[in-house]
Amino acid sequence: MGRVVVIGGGFAGMASAARLAKLGHEVTLVEQMPQLGGAMGTVEQDGFTWDAGPSTTLLPAVVRDLFRKTGRPLEREIDLVQQPIMRTHHFQDDTSVALPGGSRAAQIDALDGLGAGLGDQWAAYVEGFADDWEAIRRDYLERPWVPEIASKETSARIFTREMMAKRVKKSFKDDRLRLLAAHPFVFEGHDTRDVPAWMGMASYVEQRFGAWTIEGGFGRLSGVLAQRLATRKVNVLTDTTVSDIVVRSGRAAAVATSAGELDADVVVCAGDPRRIPTLAPFVRRTMPAIPPVVCHLGLTGDVPDLPAESVFHGDPLIVVRTGGTAPDGGKAVTIFGRGLLAEDIVLGLVRKGINLRPFVEVRVDRSPRTQVEQWGGSPMGVLWQGRSTLKERLSSTTPVPGVYSAGAHTNPGAGIPYVGLSAALVAQEIGPA
Ligand SMILES: Cc1cc2nc3c(=O)[nH]c(=O)nc-3n(C[C@H](O)[C@H](O)[C@H](O)COP(=O)(O)OP(=O)(O)OC[C@H]3O[C@@H](n4cnc5c(N)ncnc54)[C@H](O)[C@@H]3O)c2cc1C
Repeated sequence: MGRVVVIGGGFAGMASAARLAKLGHEVTLVEQMPQLGGAMGTVEQDGFTWDAGPSTTLLPAVVRDLFRKTGRPLEREIDLVQQPIMRTHHFQDDTSVALPGGSRAAQIDALDGLGAGLGDQWAAYVEGFADDWEAIRRDYLERPWVPEIASKETSARIFTREMMAKRVKKSFKDDRLRLLAAHPFVFEGHDTRDVPAWMGMASYVEQRFGAWTIEGGFGRLSGVLAQRLATRKVNVLTDTTVSDIVVRSGRAAAVATSAGELDADVVVCAGDPRRIPTLAPFVRRTMPAIPPVVCHLGLTGDVPDLPAESVFHGDPLIVVRTGGTAPDGGKAVTIFGRGLLAEDIVLGLVRKGINLRPFVEVRVDRSPRTQVEQWGGSPMGVLWQGRSTLKERLSSTTPVPGVYSAGAHTNPGAGIPYVGLSAALVAQEIGPA
């Protein structure tokens, strides 16, 4: 039986640990915080609960596969529900569109409301990623990336010089459609001039499979996964920080932690490798993508009705998500901001036409710095700096024998679906005990 130590108990670490335990390994998961979940956790205060990070996921099949491969299926544990309207986008010219997920026809209908023919333009743009999705899914997302066995065609797609900004500009004359297409990357802190064009397949995935959430908050998934780890007899050490990986005779032999050394035949790094001295030299050219400014509000009184997610374009970009839980008569709301936040974000939202100030009962502010310090790295992973980023961030196998990498800092990247896929890839690489 192989002794595996997993560094970091976010979604990536928990998913890797559960899969490897099911494959017969003796798994220890080391998490520096008092609780598991990382960004997929919750923030709680005065009876209100908010999602600390993700509130929806694309590709629900990734989460379903994790549960099916490690024990009882997901639907026996928790309901993943489709969010019919993914986001309501508000533009600076006072027009807006409620963008549905999971349906080409519904997207065309909604976007035609912005201007005749825009629905078809959007559908053609999205359809343009169908072949990217098929090739990249097969060679890059569902099996470890091996350039020698990937088709030439997939390599050419992955390493294209075409960046998102160019594709978007070429595809649309209407600025609002450009903003719509670029939004997922801008929200994650990237400059679309540095994001490869094929990443736009996120729009294809949204249109085809929709966005999925969990009643009461996405963070509930962490609790369910923690139970799965207990079922699979994973040894979970919380409040324990990993300072390095110990290499002996050229391969991983142990993990140095604040509670002493843990022997290991295999190590999975599911945190920021820049913080682990053994791995840091291999990622020295990467930079983190910084999380947004986050402000959780507990509201009471006659609070205006808000959709699940509202996006207010402009500088600053402000995103408002409802969800989480509140005491009777209250509402939990989270505001995210990027860009020119020269004033308080709640006031910034007033300028976008939504005044929540009279209803604020509880407020928890979390700056990008607080988040990065708390999680020992950015859950947004590595900043896109062009196509070279694919080679400069780690993949599931690393240059150190016996050390594997999963999570936001690893190919295929940040976000619940990609992070979940990275755990599946690590389990494929390591194999049964
Ligand atoms: C504000 C925000 C909103 C987001 N919204 C969405 C969304 O709606 N949909 C979506 O798909 N994605 C979203 N994301 C991205 C998504 O949350 C992350 O990509 C994903 O959760 C990252 O998981 P991870 O396990 O790789 O990393 P993390 O969640 O960062 O987990 C890393 C864990 O490792 C621990 N750790 C780090 N270093 C050490 C060490 N040396 N020793 C011990 N433990 C260590 C940390 O404490 C942490 O628990 C959002 C992220 C943020 C910040």
